[in-house]
Amino acid sequence: MKGLSKSRYTAFCQCPKNLWLKVYKPEEATVDAGVQTRFEQGNVVGDLAMQLFGDFKEAHAESPDGRLDLATMVEQTRQWMEEGVENIAEASFSFEYNGMSQYCAVDILRKTPDGWAIYEVKSTSFPEFNGQESKLEKYAPDIAYQKWVLTQCGVHVAGTYLVCLNSDYVRHGDLDIQQLFVVNDMQVMVDNEYLKVPARVNQALKVLKSDQEPDLDLSECCMKPYGCAFWNYCKQQHGVLSPSVFDVYGGKGKGGFTFKKKLDCYHQKLVSFEDLRSTNIGSIQNMQIEAALTGKEFINPAGIRKFLEKLTYPLYFLDFETMQDAVPQYDGAKVYAQITFQYSLHIKERSDEIRESHNDGRTLRMKVGKQPIHKEYLAPSDGKDPRRALAEHLCEDIPKDVCVLAYNKMFECSRIRELAALYPDLSDHLTNIAEHIIDLIDPFRAGDYYVPAMGGSFSIKSVLPALFPGDPELDYHNLDDRCQNGGDAMTIFPRIQFMEPDEAEASREALKRYCKLDTWAMVKVWEKLKEKAGVI
Ligand code: SF4
Repeated sequence: MKGLSKSRYTAFCQCPKNLWLKVYKPEEATVDAGVQTRFEQGNVVGDLAMQLFGDFKEAHAESPDGRLDLATMVEQTRQWMEEGVENIAEASFSFEYNGMSQYCAVDILRKTPDGWAIYEVKSTSFPEFNGQESKLEKYAPDIAYQKWVLTQCGVHVAGTYLVCLNSDYVRHGDLDIQQLFVVNDMQVMVDNEYLKVPARVNQALKVLKSDQEPDLDLSECCMKPYGCAFWNYCKQQHGVLSPSVFDVYGGKGKGGFTFKKKLDCYHQKLVSFEDLRSTNIGSIQNMQIEAALTGKEFINPAGIRKFLEKLTYPLYFLDFETMQDAVPQYDGAKVYAQITFQYSLHIKERSDEIRESHNDGRTLRMKVGKQPIHKEYLAPSDGKDPRRALAEHLCEDIPKDVCVLAYNKMFECSRIRELAALYPDLSDHLTNIAEHIIDLIDPFRAGDYYVPAMGGSFSIKSVLPALFPGDPELDYHNLDDRCQNGGDAMTIFPRIQFMEPDEAEASREALKRYCKLDTWAMVKVWEKLKEKAGVI
């Protein structure tokens, strides 16, 4: 029987039930849309890291059915170690323990004067840990397991390291592999973890051999160190039906309704919205619960008016699309840089004509007339750096000192400031645009307008269908399948350069329609706010 591997061991460390479900009920896992992208990026990073120490050999073999032939990879590793190969990638080891074969592959195994050093490669970036090296600890169990397997196979492990991307690295010219990666010595953390491995392995093997699903309650482990793929399955098993405490708006900062606070409620049997109704967990959270239970809208016209008074005509509704590579492709880019390749812009001039309409017995007076103008930019699909031309077009399309609206503006502001830092001659204009961006999400986050269908989320993808239910013009699902969300845009744009002309053209059209809907959606949301606040 197949025993443990790195991923099985770390699954057990998170939660024994996670390991059991992974083996016996893998179909219950919820795989998020970004998994494939992260997997592909991990492969790119892993392949580059193999070159970190110069020449290397990579253990790799496939059986006729296309699966990895682990036995041959173990044999390749053994031979190369005997021959004194200095660097072995995917160095594979296996041994029998308790009637099961225990396996691990070391990303890079490096010969040292004292023995062999293990280098685990992660495509995460190091400044994630800046000043908080303790965050590296989550990788220690994985490396400790590798050290245990190698030791059991008679290999003297002389060092344990974590290789991750250096987010201080800025590419200039050819990729500098030595600067791209940061090597962290994990010895203290791994030695600490190493002592726990034998007992954990024995417990994990018991779980593997059992046909009984472990009976474990929801806990902090479900999100630590990673969000568990079996979360939806386990929630359901424990009778948690949506909407529940786990669907309540989390908010930001210290006062947020964190996962830990939600768990506390769960353990106090405050699970359904009915249970939570009499609690005081936060004004927005209480509003969400009340709205869901009563079907009522919450509107604070004075709050909305205060927001609208900050806006000045003409209004520029702006939205960016970006792509992101773990390894920087272009000069001046860092690891995981967001490379902006497209924007959509709706421009609304002041209207003069006043039109009356009637709603719920009320007479509404709206200024109408001038339809918003649409402008857009989509970089050529030639694989070249799209940023300079985009920045120039942006400065042509948005004059200085105008009122720009973005939804969740942090994203647009950050991209514009990055462009400003990259192109000093455009910096003044770009910085001016960023300084004049107002966030259309503000009235929703402030609780000035809430409808039950928002479901505790203020993203435009939740707000739009909640405010315009059933409107086919505003339904992202009615767009071309090729591009219906930001993730699709991020994936499809870099691939267009390799497509046949017809498919490339259709994909570019799909991108344009998607991005245009993002800013049109903002125009509609702004109009709805005006209507609710009685502003003409
Ligand atoms: S969701 Fe929680 S209880 Fe269920 S397997 Fe994952 S970590 Fe364990």
